[in-house]
Amino acid sequence: MEQKKCKNKKCQRPLPEGYKYKYCESCRNMRTEHIKDFGKKALGAAVLIGGPIITIATKGKIKPNKK
Ligand SMILES: [Zn+2]
Repeated sequence: MEQKKCKNKKCQRPLPEGYKYKYCESCRNMRTEHIKDFGKKALGAAVLIGGPIITIATKGKIKPNKK
């Protein structure tokens, strides 16, 4: 059977037989970190972009109490 290698071109570390992932452990950890980081950024952007939109939307639907 062909020796599996980490799909990361910079890594190319041989993977153990029966290893179910395409990336080695350290690369997988790195990718997870990236995804986490991206998630945080996406969430931050969503809050930045979504905040004013929600404010505008609620202003249109929910009228503030006028005295
Ligand atoms: Zn790797």
